[in-house]
Amino acid sequence: MKLHEFQAKEIFRKFNIPVPEGRVAASAKEAGSVAGELKGPPWVVKAQVHAGGRGKGGGVRIVKSLSELKSAASAILNNPLVTRQTGPEGRKVHQVLIEEGVEIDREIYLAVTIDRSRAMPVVIFSRAGGMDIEDVASTSPELVLKQFVNPATGWMPYQGKTLGYSLHPLPAPEAVKGLTTLMERLCRLFVSLDCSLAEINPLVITKDARVLAVDAKITIDDN
Ligand code: ADP
Ligand code: MG
Repeated sequence: MKLHEFQAKEIFRKFNIPVPEGRVAASAKEAGSVAGELKGPPWVVKAQVHAGGRGKGGGVRIVKSLSELKSAASAILNNPLVTRQTGPEGRKVHQVLIEEGVEIDREIYLAVTIDRSRAMPVVIFSRAGGMDIEDVASTSPELVLKQFVNPATGWMPYQGKTLGYSLHPLPAPEAVKGLTTLMERLCRLFVSLDCSLAEINPLVITKDARVLAVDAKITIDDN
């Protein structure tokens, strides 16, 4: 079962994984009142559909005023969204997520999934976040790092450090700490909810060295 981004982010909050402040809306008017309760402008308007690549398809828009926010929300809600994952007919959008816009310094890729051949969870990490990980894996495989989660020991602190300290240039110490803590929490979430995928792309380091999950994708194993 695939969850929507806003649902995945509610779960992230329960596991103390930091996310931007935000709420869903089903109309342009409601989008306006949600924005009034958040930090911003800028705000971000995000189509809630089960398909990636929304940014490139016009389903994620950064806006700088309330009037821009309302017209972005109604444009997204009133037109099917076409991305490289939807097919040409696109997908109807019933809800948009309204979020505070954060000041991004770096975008990282982080996911936990199951490696069936090894029969254990694997953490996948890349400093080339924000792009399609399949593209990164085929053009620059050296940028895709993996750490396996041995079920006997669970996620080990050294594994987070191995990934965190692989970044060049090295982020501020509090950002590295934020990354390693977040990896541990994502592994705990993955196991406790029987996920088949928990993916953050991008995981962001802000200009003030905070670490935030700006996108969120969770798939639960129905079995
Ligand atoms: P998708 O993967 O479907 O394209 P994302 O949630 O990854 O959607 O958003 C696409 C891009 O939009 C991100 O890589 C990021 O640069 C930007 N973005 C998304 N949410 C925010 C936010 N709250 N603040 C600032 N930028 C954002
Ligand atoms: Mg994304």
